[in-house]
Amino acid sequence: MAKRLLGKEVTAALNEKIKANVAALQEKGITPTLGIVRVGEREDDLSYERGAVKRCETLGVACEKFLLPADVSQERLMEVIDQVNADDRIHGVLIFRPLPKHLDEAAVIRALAPEKDVDGITDGSMVGVFAGTDQGFPPCTPQACMEILDHYGIDCTGKKAVVVGRSLVVGKPAAMMLLKKNATVTVCHTRTVDMPSVVKEADIVIVAAGRAGVVTADYVSPGQIVIDVGINVNEEGKLCGDVAFDQVESIVDAITPVPGGVGSVTTSVLVGHVVEAAMRKYMK
Ligand code: NAP
Repeated sequence: MAKRLLGKEVTAALNEKIKANVAALQEKGITPTLGIVRVGEREDDLSYERGAVKRCETLGVACEKFLLPADVSQERLMEVIDQVNADDRIHGVLIFRPLPKHLDEAAVIRALAPEKDVDGITDGSMVGVFAGTDQGFPPCTPQACMEILDHYGIDCTGKKAVVVGRSLVVGKPAAMMLLKKNATVTVCHTRTVDMPSVVKEADIVIVAAGRAGVVTADYVSPGQIVIDVGINVNEEGKLCGDVAFDQVESIVDAITPVPGGVGSVTTSVLVGHVVEAAMRKYMK
């Protein structure tokens, strides 16, 4: 049976580091603060927001919410972005996306101050990920996958890694981060031919397809490390990942469960970025 790579173990270690940094900032009279910009009331956003606010509270990070109706105008939203950019008390900003269709999301992203881009959505942050530098902040979810690998001492050097999914939020940055760790990386997507045989060859598999149970027993082989990024709701209304956990757990070496895997680490990575943004401003 596979070892379970548990988000709570990774989070506990990350939180200790974050708390130490918060204490150092507090000594200088600075409270790191996350600004949350939410348009509308999508259940996914509300759920992520609750988790983020709770984690911030636990770690001594303040939150300020900027809540706008789903039919907000572009002009008003841009005013709010200008406001959070100009507010010295706010060190990092989370903007829930996708924005409603009538809004120009690219313009909103372009307007965000790069030093406050703790969710890694601006072009500047993406350049940092692709160039392998510390410019900006990497998107939180793929970084959470790397934190899990690091925490459990999984060395990627020379390993074959497969990422399932090529979104700009998860798949592509995850592939770049694995490359930085010296893995040999393949990215699969809906046009990949014979995906089971590609995935089977990997030592490390990160699955971010957004489809419940895409990776079944036919895709995996003994010795593999599987990180499941997916968050789906199954027919019984239960949370599940993109990996068919019950089939795969008995074959591979290690696997993240859903829930209890990547999701909780992502929240701590976000809060860690807010603290890092404050440290870059005042202490570096
Ligand atoms: P996305 O934008 O929908 O992208 C999905 C990617 O997977 C696409 O590149 C798509 O390929 C590929 N794909 C879909 N079905 C596939 C299949 N059957 N075989 C091979 N590739 C397939 O999704 P995302 O935003 O990257 O999110 C992925 C998953 O992660 C979702 O379940 C989401 O809820 C979850 N997520 C979790 C966290 C967390 O903190 N745990 C954070 C963000 C997202 P094409 O490009 O060819 O269409």
